[in-house]
Amino acid sequence: MPNASWIESKHFTLKPLNKGVYACIHKPGGAAYSSAGILDLGDSTLLVDAFDTLAAARDLRHNTESLFERPVEMIILTHAHSDHWIGASVFDANTTLLASKTTRQVCLEWGAEIVNEFQDTSEWEEWIKKAEKQLRTEQDERVRVGLESSITRTRYAMAEMVEFQPRYADQTFDDVVIFQGSKRGAELRSLGRGHSEDDAVLLLPQDGIAFIGDIGFFDTQPFLGFCDIDLYRKQLLFFQDSDFQVLVPGHGPVGDKDDVALQLKYFDMMEDLVGTVVQRGGSFEEAMQITLPEPFDKWLIGGMERFKVNVRYLFERFGGEVLEEE
Ligand SMILES: [Zn+2]
Repeated sequence: MPNASWIESKHFTLKPLNKGVYACIHKPGGAAYSSAGILDLGDSTLLVDAFDTLAAARDLRHNTESLFERPVEMIILTHAHSDHWIGASVFDANTTLLASKTTRQVCLEWGAEIVNEFQDTSEWEEWIKKAEKQLRTEQDERVRVGLESSITRTRYAMAEMVEFQPRYADQTFDDVVIFQGSKRGAELRSLGRGHSEDDAVLLLPQDGIAFIGDIGFFDTQPFLGFCDIDLYRKQLLFFQDSDFQVLVPGHGPVGDKDDVALQLKYFDMMEDLVGTVVQRGGSFEEAMQITLPEPFDKWLIGGMERFKVNVRYLFERFGGEVLEEE
């Protein structure tokens, strides 16, 4: 359990799952944005992912090192989306970064883009001004909450961009890596393309716990932006058919197979609603007007932007044409 040098982070909550296994769940308004995992193998400490910002990752590093009184041996990157690995650069060279070959390759591409975007902050400042103006009159609570969280996130990124140097995986793997520590074993496995180009999961069969990265979005909208929805479904079915009782998602609270079932239902429902609009020749704007049944209507709180990305992905997938200005 947390000792004297542990600090209460405003970015994440520490949730013990078993002795030596913790989930670090992002707090609303904080700078973690995604969740991470801490694992004590007995003779070494592993992390799963490293958050969206240096600020949140500094707390993660401090707290993990104070928990076990030793440096972090390794950070496993579940996939290439930058909200899971920007923070990795606060760890020094003693901490190895491990990712699949595909994930490393995609991280290199994203990293170059991020560094490029960080060169010129004027567009970001412009965006914040526009968003703040909209916030003054916006009545839709779903849009308001999404805007507020995007403004906070952009401010954190802007504050850090001067010192940000991306860190990429030092080691790569293809399919499976088995860790056998003095206290427990763990299995890192690539589930291939689905949510992202390649999604890896960390399985703890003896504990009944799995860190599933962004295969899981619990109590919140999944992000379909770069996915292949059929393969994404297969990744979820892998956990639905498994014996893991505790699932740590990349976004949202710790859950279980019921959350996986609900996420699959969201996929079905979105395909059904957006597909119907495309079939009758409706526009993208009409597709954006679909209403989600409970409990998915609540999932919209936290980002109409993500909803728009998801509707757009499905609209185009069913053969609809999105005009550029939309
Ligand atoms: Zn992701």
